[in-house]
Amino acid sequence: MIAPMARDNAGRSRPALAVFCDFDGTFAVQDVGSTIARRYAAERRPALWERLVRGELTPWAYNLELLEGLPVPEDQLDAFLASVELDPGAESLVGWCKSKGVPFRILSDGFDRNLDRLQTLTGVGFEYDANGLVYRDAAWSIRPGHPNPACGCGTGTCKRGRIEAYRAAHPGVPTAHIGNGRVSDLCGAESADLAFAKDSLAEALTERGRAYHAFRTLHDVVGELDRWLIARGEG
Ligand SMILES: [Zn+2]
Repeated sequence: MIAPMARDNAGRSRPALAVFCDFDGTFAVQDVGSTIARRYAAERRPALWERLVRGELTPWAYNLELLEGLPVPEDQLDAFLASVELDPGAESLVGWCKSKGVPFRILSDGFDRNLDRLQTLTGVGFEYDANGLVYRDAAWSIRPGHPNPACGCGTGTCKRGRIEAYRAAHPGVPTAHIGNGRVSDLCGAESADLAFAKDSLAEALTERGRAYHAFRTLHDVVGELDRWLIARGEG
């Protein structure tokens, strides 16, 4: 059953919730960027990672140092993407959102080209915000998608910025963020009304005393979101 939608002052229908989900390690099991970097920039990666941890590089500067100009043959990239598995509950989460009239959007500090390819490969479609990736002279050329100097995250696609932009355009709609990493997901989790977290994001939220729902797979998230809607009388 489609959830009844509240109406805003202009009489437009308003969804009961909007869901934002990280891709690498959350919607998909593997992390595309770090797997490619381990494979094609293995020698440079540890020293750059140390500089990121010490705060000498922002996450986007780290991406630039690591990935810009990386000569990854396109057929090898596509072969790797074909091996990426979605979380066992990924399709169910997208289906649940659709059935409830809940907008669903992937927020990724990864790259548009790979997300487009993965939608074709998996048959699971989604809207997304991410960074740009094109091939130039057989090598990667990257650009940030939605940087946000007002946030301290330093990523190419600031998730806080995307969630705040949604909230400004759709006042009164509660937001949920689902993620797994402290580097690119923390600002999104902190700005959303409901945070779902695992791995290093869960550790970071625990350190900050921020409430979150722990999850193992996206099936857990679907169950929790369903209970949340029912408790609000909108299931
Ligand atoms: Zn941010």
